[in-house]
Amino acid sequence: MAADYYELLGVSRDASQDEIKRAYRRLARELHPDTGHGDAEAEARFKEVTKAYDVLRDPEKRQRYDTFGAEGPMAGAGDPFGFGGTGGINDVFEAFFGGNPFGGGRRGAGGPPRGSDIEVVADLTFEEAVFGCQHTVVVRTAVACDTCAATGAAPGTAPTTCGECRGTGQVQRIRQSLIGQMVTSSPCPRCGGLGQVITNPCPDCRGEGRRGEERKYTVDIPAGVDTGSTLRLAGRGAAGPRGGGVGDLYVHLRVTPHESFQRDGVNLLTELRVPYSQAVLGASVPFETLDGSETLELGRGTPSGKVIRLRGRGVPHIERRTRGDLLVTVVVDVPTELNEAEEESLRRYAELRGEPVAPPPTGLFGKIRSAFQ
Ligand code: ZN
Repeated sequence: MAADYYELLGVSRDASQDEIKRAYRRLARELHPDTGHGDAEAEARFKEVTKAYDVLRDPEKRQRYDTFGAEGPMAGAGDPFGFGGTGGINDVFEAFFGGNPFGGGRRGAGGPPRGSDIEVVADLTFEEAVFGCQHTVVVRTAVACDTCAATGAAPGTAPTTCGECRGTGQVQRIRQSLIGQMVTSSPCPRCGGLGQVITNPCPDCRGEGRRGEERKYTVDIPAGVDTGSTLRLAGRGAAGPRGGGVGDLYVHLRVTPHESFQRDGVNLLTELRVPYSQAVLGASVPFETLDGSETLELGRGTPSGKVIRLRGRGVPHIERRTRGDLLVTVVVDVPTELNEAEEESLRRYAELRGEPVAPPPTGLFGKIRSAFQ
C-alpha cells in the first residue's frame, strides 16, 4: 500500500522544495530511532517519510511521481526511482545528521571524510613487555574497495559532479529570522556532502568505496613498555568512504603481573627468602632473574630487609640501550616447625648466648624438656 508522499510529509502538492525539506527535517527529528522513542511504529513511519522525501526532494523524481505515482511506469522492475541504490536512507540521514556508518571522521570542506581511528587492547606477558616482542592484533576495519579503486562507482563508470551543490558538497539556505536574513550552510542532502554522486554504484561495496574486513597486523612491541602504554600505528585504522583518508590504529597495552617481580619504573623489585643460618653464616644462593639463573652471594650477617642491587638486570629504558636494576630484598625466614634434633641444637645455641627462651609446649619433645629443666 502506497501512502501519498505529500500526505506523509504533511505538505501540499504545490509545496516549495524548502517547505518539503523543512517538513522532512521536523519529522525526521521526531521519528528517528536514535531520538529515543524506539518504537517499531515510529521506525516504520520514519522509513516511509524518508522514502517520500527522497522522491520529493528531487525535482525530476517528483515530477515523475506527480505523473505516474509511486508505482511508476516501471513497476515491477525494482524501485522506480532508484531508491535503495546509491542514495537510500543512510545518505539522506547523513545529510541531515552528519552521521557516518563507520563512525569517526569529521567532514572537511568538500571531499570525503577520513576513516575512523580504531582502538584495540593487546595483552602481553610480563616478559614480553620487559624484553619486547612481536604481537599480532586482529581488527574489524574498513578497507578501500579494490573493485572500484575506492571511488564507489562501478568499474567502467565514474562518479559525476552533484547537480544540487555543483560539486561543493555544501548547500546554503536563506531564511528570515527576527534579526534579518540568515544564511546557513549544510552538507548537500543529495550527495551527502561528497560533492559527487554515483549513478552506477560498485557492486562490491554498494557505492561506499570501502568494505568491512578483518585485518591482522603484527605490531613491534618495544622493550620496556608497561600497562597503560599505547602504540599508534598511523594509517592502520579504517579507510574513509570513497577514497577518504585512513584513520590510525591505537594499540593499548595491558601487561599480566608477574608472580615474583614487580615493576618500579625501569627497576624490578623482588624478595629473596633465606633461612636464618644462611643469613648469619653467609651463603651462595641460586636465584632466578628474568634473564635466567644466577648465584647471589649473601655475606655473613645479612640482615632481614637488606636490599641487594643487581645492576642492569631490570627493565630497558624504551628509548635508550640501558636497563634499570633488579632490587632484591632479603627476607629472613623464621622456621615454624622443628624436629627434635633442631630444637635441641637451637636451645643449646640460645643457652650459649645467654638468651632466655620460652619452654617448649607441653607434651612436645618430653626428653628435651627433662634435659633442660
Ligand atoms: Zn567498490
